[in-house]
Amino acid sequence: MRALPASVLALCGLAVSACGGVATGESAAGRQPLPVEQQPAVEKPAAAKAAKPLEGKVVVIDPGHNGGNFKDPKAINKQVNVLTKWKACDTTGTATNDGYTEAAYTWDVSTRLAKILKQRGATVKLTRADNTSVGPCITERAAIGNRAKADAAISVHADGAAAGNHGFHIIMPKKIGGPVDPVVGDSAELGLAVRDAFKKGTGVPYSTYIGSKALNYRDDLGGLNLSKVPKIFIECGNMRNAGDAANFKDPAFRQKAAQALANGLQNYLS
Ligand code: ZN
Repeated sequence: MRALPASVLALCGLAVSACGGVATGESAAGRQPLPVEQQPAVEKPAAAKAAKPLEGKVVVIDPGHNGGNFKDPKAINKQVNVLTKWKACDTTGTATNDGYTEAAYTWDVSTRLAKILKQRGATVKLTRADNTSVGPCITERAAIGNRAKADAAISVHADGAAAGNHGFHIIMPKKIGGPVDPVVGDSAELGLAVRDAFKKGTGVPYSTYIGSKALNYRDDLGGLNLSKVPKIFIECGNMRNAGDAANFKDPAFRQKAAQALANGLQNYLS
C-alpha cells in the first residue's frame, strides 16, 4: 500500500469522513496520491473527476505539415480529392524569416498540448509521430480523427502572410453537402471555445487580416471537409510578422499556447 503524505494522514486523523477515498475503502493502494497542493480540503467523489476532467474524452491533434515534407515533393504534391476541389496532399508549410519552420512550431505546440490533455485524463492521438517524416496527406489527417471517433480534433498551424499582418485566427468548416455537415455546428462551438481560451491564455490579438474577431469559415480545406468529428484549425499567428515570429520562437510562449489550447478544448468538452 502506497503511503499517503503526512499532511493527508493528519487531515484524516482529525476527520476520517473528510478523506473520502480512504474512508469509503476505495482502494487507496491503487490510487496515486495527488500532490499536496492539488488535494482539496474535503475530498468528495467529484474531486476525482475534477482532477481528470477529460477522462473518457478522445482528442486528435493534427500538427500541421511535417518537417520532412520538403524531401519528397512528388508525394506531397500528389493531388487528393477534398470534395470541393482537388489539391496537394500537403505542403511544406511556412517559416519565420530566419528559418524556424511552421512544421517545427506545430510539432512542438502539439506535443506540449498532448501532454497536458493526457494529464487531464484525455485519450490523445497525434496525426504524425515525429517532425522528420513526410505527410500524411490532409485526407488521411481527417481520416485519423474519424477512425478515433474523436470528441474534438484540432489542426495546429501558423500562417505565412504579409509582414504587416499579425494575430491569430480559427478556421471552422462550412456545410458542403458532405461528411462534415453534421458536425459544422459543434465545430463552430469548439472554435469559439478555443478562440476565447487562446486570446485569454496567450494575449495574442485577433487576426488583423482574416476573419471577424478571429473567426473564419472555409470549405476548401481537406482536413475540415472530410472530418466527421468536430474539428477546427488554428492559425496561431503570422510567421512572417516580427512580433508573432518572436512569440513562436519562444518555448515559454509555446507552452502558454498549448495550455490555452488545452483550456479551450476542455471548455468545449465539459
Ligand atoms: Zn499550415
